[in-house]
Amino acid sequence: MKPILLIHGGAWAMPDDAIAAHENGIAAALEAGWSALSRGGSSVDAVEAAITVMEDDDTFDAGRGSFLTRDGRVQLDALLMNGANLRSGGVACVERLRNPIQAARLVLDKSPHVYFVGTGAERFARQNGMDLIDNTELIVPRERDRLMAFQRAEAAGHPDTTFSGSPTEHSHDTVGAVAIDANGNLAAGTSTGGTLSKAPGRVGDSSLIGCGCYADNLSAAVSLTGWGEPIMKLVLGKWAVDRVAAGHNPQDAATAAIEYLHTRLGGHGGIILLGPDGRIGLAHNTPRMAWGLASHEGRQLGITRNI
Ligand code: ASP
Repeated sequence: MKPILLIHGGAWAMPDDAIAAHENGIAAALEAGWSALSRGGSSVDAVEAAITVMEDDDTFDAGRGSFLTRDGRVQLDALLMNGANLRSGGVACVERLRNPIQAARLVLDKSPHVYFVGTGAERFARQNGMDLIDNTELIVPRERDRLMAFQRAEAAGHPDTTFSGSPTEHSHDTVGAVAIDANGNLAAGTSTGGTLSKAPGRVGDSSLIGCGCYADNLSAAVSLTGWGEPIMKLVLGKWAVDRVAAGHNPQDAATAAIEYLHTRLGGHGGIILLGPDGRIGLAHNTPRMAWGLASHEGRQLGITRNI
């Protein structure tokens, strides 16, 4: 099987002045993931490597630089899933880990459990060799300003603070990756800081199995971004991979998933899909989506256009 890596860095009305930073971040993540695959690494390795780079990049709503909670902290969620055996690792509401996708990898590799939250997740990560950091290390000034502006608008009763799912007003810079390796094994991962001014303890779709992420060699690998609550209610990741298993090609399944999100619940977002035969799908109903593709044929980046 020829390896493939498909990644995203959010779907929203990304302004022109944000494009270069997203392109650079996507390109760097593709290189890290592709180099894992070309060294003979697994699809899980590639997904973890690509997402780690995007978590470390302040541009994205994952790791350092994430949106702040209502009370001014960063709380991170991530999931990593191995399509060969369905082993999965999830963490949510972690505040002291620089790279939650690496904690998710530890859960996947080392725990009989699948999902850890809050201080229990941090303790598990620490016991397995990860450093705990201060939450302030994850906070950037841009996000303090953004939170203050949002909360001022909310206090003034501005309608765009009601999370109507508007594709233009709220950025969705969650990151994700899907990959297939030389052995034909699929993997998927998603990592996020969630939504702006979320209530402490809120968990979105990104780290929930079958919602913002899923991988199964018998169906497909998927990662989503967008307004999390509608995606969760529809268990949209599983919905999409099940369509691939039923014989739809991944592009049709991706398009149908985003249509379903919108017609059923008025949701907005983006999706990447990869089938076990290497066919890909990508769709979004936001003005832009940041994505990148690496294969033996080279690299492709897109923000203002579809695949
Ligand atoms: N889906 C994420 C969440 O609701 C946000 C995003 O994709 O930007 O937590």
